[in-house]
Amino acid sequence: MRFARFLYQNEIHWGIVDHDQVQVLRGSPFELWEVTNQRIPLSWVNLLPPCTPSKIVCVGLNYRDHARELGMPLPEEPLLFLKPPSSVIGHGQKIIYPPESNQVDYEAELAVIIKEKISRATEEEVKSKILGYTCGNDVTAKDFQKKDGQWTRAKSFDTFCPLGPFLAVDLDADDLRIELKVNGEIRQQSSTKEMIFPVPRLVSFISSVMTLYPGDVVMTGTPPGVGPLQVGDVVSVEIEGIGILTNEVVAFGPPDGKARPFS
Ligand code: ZN
Repeated sequence: MRFARFLYQNEIHWGIVDHDQVQVLRGSPFELWEVTNQRIPLSWVNLLPPCTPSKIVCVGLNYRDHARELGMPLPEEPLLFLKPPSSVIGHGQKIIYPPESNQVDYEAELAVIIKEKISRATEEEVKSKILGYTCGNDVTAKDFQKKDGQWTRAKSFDTFCPLGPFLAVDLDADDLRIELKVNGEIRQQSSTKEMIFPVPRLVSFISSVMTLYPGDVVMTGTPPGVGPLQVGDVVSVEIEGIGILTNEVVAFGPPDGKARPFS
């Protein structure tokens, strides 16, 4: 089952996705919910990110095929870093290319959405506290990642964390096809079975460092094929059972929300 969080007639709703329609819920998938009789065509709504995280916890190198590509040894434990909640955007929203950077890369990632508070939980315990999964793009200013020696600036620009389009529940994350396209051309293609640390291990490990709260997101690392984005590109992340997260890259513009024409 897939849930959508969306804006319709100036109100935020949750719904269940049914082909090209969404069936509106009372409540949210994080709590008790029930379906209403209201059905809206998906094309009439603005999709929002499928959660409002207090933090986004990310993992560095976590795909065996990516480690092979980089010629790096497999890590002994997950390497963690954070992205701020202010970097989150939804499907169809624009990634703003920061004027300070000269290299902005895409990274397709499976994003885990937390359902219940988790602290120092075992791999077995975390399984019932995960609500579901969405597609994520860990957009990164690669030049600042190298220059700064740590990753906060590179990973944290506004719009650098597209999440969506839907929240998929009842999904087995052990072997899902993950793919990223730029302007329709495949750049990344792998399976979540290539993960070095699978989802329960990651969530358990993170919970031993920081308490995870409902709506928090764990980004589980990217497969091989990472590369740069240019202004005007359309980037999409597709994960089996979830959907396709698509975002266009635009130049930074004035604060009226309109992008400055790129020249
Ligand atoms: Zn990443």
